[in-house]
Parts: sequence; structure tokens; C-alpha cells
Amino acid sequence: MAVYAMTGGATGIGAAIKEQLRKGGHEVIVVDIKDADVIADLSNTEGRQKAIAGIRSACPAALDGFIACAGVATHVANKALIPAVNYFGTTELVDGLADLLASSKGAVLLVSSNSAPMSTDNDYVDLLLNNDEPAALSHVENIDGQAAYSGSKQAVARWMRRNVNRFAQQGVRINAIAPGYTQTPMTRAVEESEEYGQAIRDFMASIPVGRPGQPEDMANAAAYLLSDAASFVCGSVLFVDGGHDAMLRPDQF
Ligand code: NAD
Repeated sequence: MAVYAMTGGATGIGAAIKEQLRKGGHEVIVVDIKDADVIADLSNTEGRQKAIAGIRSACPAALDGFIACAGVATHVANKALIPAVNYFGTTELVDGLADLLASSKGAVLLVSSNSAPMSTDNDYVDLLLNNDEPAALSHVENIDGQAAYSGSKQAVARWMRRNVNRFAQQGVRINAIAPGYTQTPMTRAVEESEEYGQAIRDFMASIPVGRPGQPEDMANAAAYLLSDAASFVCGSVLFVDGGHDAMLRPDQF
């Protein structure tokens, strides 16, 4: 039995990852803003440090894996939450748990998005990668939610790649999944809306495999990347999107 910690396990993709790991007999310590073992708000550093402390008190010796799944989507009223939760709520936790992960040569899984390559706001992504949280949070006030979201997810993937050697030197593998459109509470609200419903249905119809993703699709990919079967997979971004990224950007990878 392995011991995992994760964020965002209350609903959607995170809940499916949690359930699959628990069904496999593993212990999973969940951090979330609701319905979790450790209740913490990852949009600010106090909440992130509370999350790290909560995980540390639940498993003081070592951690076999950590999954950073908490995130907010494009349509949140307060756009500052997008970089605060999606990027800083990921990187601050991974760094804060690095020694526990090194103790058991664990595996880290980050959750990017297949929208990450669509970000063109290099100034924003640089602010994130430079760890300048105040500037990144104020930058998003002047861009739309989609740009704030895709930039946050591009920065997550690039932070992972930039740090791959640092973690690997400690025996820790780090990878990311890039989900495509997945039916969860995050997307259902938009799918059912008057304003965007038809556009979303058209978007779903364009997915090459002919269906939207389900949380279990992401959990299957996560379980593989966390397992010993993936022991030589390190620094990868696995697109789990029914072929959408390949269809939209066939010659860029
Ligand atoms: P979801 O809304 O069902 O789950 C998000 C989880 O994050 C929830 O449990 C929520 O409570 C938690 N969370 C949100 N804000 C938080 C905060 N401030 N502090 C602590 N926890 C917080 O959405 P989902 O679709 O399952 O998304 C999971 C991850 O997958 C996110 O990172 C999302 O960006 C990413 N993703 C989703 C899709 C998709 O189509 N659903 C596509 C690409 C990437």
C-alpha cells in the first residue's frame, strides 16, 4: 500500500483519481476547499502552508506520491483565482512536500490542460515562472479568463519541465497530464448555459475519438504515470484529450 496526497479530490477529475487509488488499496490524503481530509484554500499562501502542514501531520515520514489537481476554470468571477490556485497552488505545494517525496522516491503528477499550448501571453507566463505572484495576479485583471487559464496551465507544464532534473536527482519522478474537454462540475455549468451551451456541444463534437473525456479517463492516465510501470517516464506532458491537440496542432509538439 502506498501513501498519496492530493489536492482537488472533492469533485471531478480529482475525485476519480482519489477513488481509483483508494480502490487499489492505497491511502490518499485529500486537500480541498471542501469535503476533504485537510480543508485549505489554495488561493493564498496561508492556505497552501496549512495544506502542507496538514499533509505532513498525516504522513510525517514519507510520501509515495502527490497529485496537484485543484484548479479553477475560465469563468470564475475573480480572475486572480486562476493563477493563484492553478499555478501557485501547485508549485508551492510540490516544493513544500519535496523532502517527503524524496524520502520514498515518490512520483508527482501535475494537471495541466490541452489548452496550455494555446497561451500566447509570454509576459504572464514569465511572471508565473519567476514566482512573482502579486504581479501575475494583477496581470490577469487585464486579460480574459481563457488567456488567464491557458497561461496558468502552460506555466504548470513548463515549471514541471524546468524542475525535472532537480526532482529526479532526489529520485522523484514528475509528470503532467493535459486533459482535454472532460465532463465534470467545472465544465457542466458552461455546457448547460444558454450563452455557451451550443458552442461547447460543437466543440465536443469535434473531438476525434467522438466523445468528451470522463474523469475516469484522467484517473487511468494518472494511475499509470504514478505507477512503477512508468518508472522511465519523467518530465512528460501526456495529452489525454481524444486526439484534440493533435488534430488542432498537428505539426507542433
Ligand atoms: P472540478 O471543479 O470538479 O474540481 C476542481 C477541484 O479543485 C474541486 O474539488 C474544488 O473544490 C478544488 N478547488 C477549487 N478551488 C480551490 C481552492 N481555492 N482551494 C482548494 N481547492 C480548490 O474541476 P475538474 O474539471 O475536475 O478539474 C480538475 C483539474 O483538471 C483542474 O486543475 C482543471 O483545471 C483541470 N482540467 C480540467 C479540464 C476539464 O475539461 N474538466 C480540462 C483540462 C484541465
